Amino acid sequence: MAMAKLTMLKPRVATVSTQRARTFTTETVRITGSRLQAIRERILRRDNGLCQCEECKAAPVPRLASVVDHVVPLWEGGAESDENRQSLNVGCHARKSAEEARRRAGGR
Ligand SMILES: [Zn+2]
Repeated sequence: MAMAKLTMLKPRVATVSTQRARTFTTETVRITGSRLQAIRERILRRDNGLCQCEECKAAPVPRLASVVDHVVPLWEGGAESDENRQSLNVGCHARKSAEEARRRAGGR
């Protein structure tokens, strides 16, 4: 019984690990799955669900946040800690990500 189960599981496990290897090519191991979900909820609650970007913090009515972002990107040496996490609005996050991508491409 146990053997039959194991052989059925094997191909699926192999598929998952090759996908992971292809997706995560950065040196830093990103947190994924349910652990990431827990972090996301914790940070959004801490920030009262509001965008923490400079523009929104200065605005009379801040935008609602739905993404959790690394203040200092991991590839720039940012830590995987709550101090380096912030809630951002989708649009604000896209803008920040674009700036980071430009910086990364330019080798800063
Ligand atoms: Zn914002």
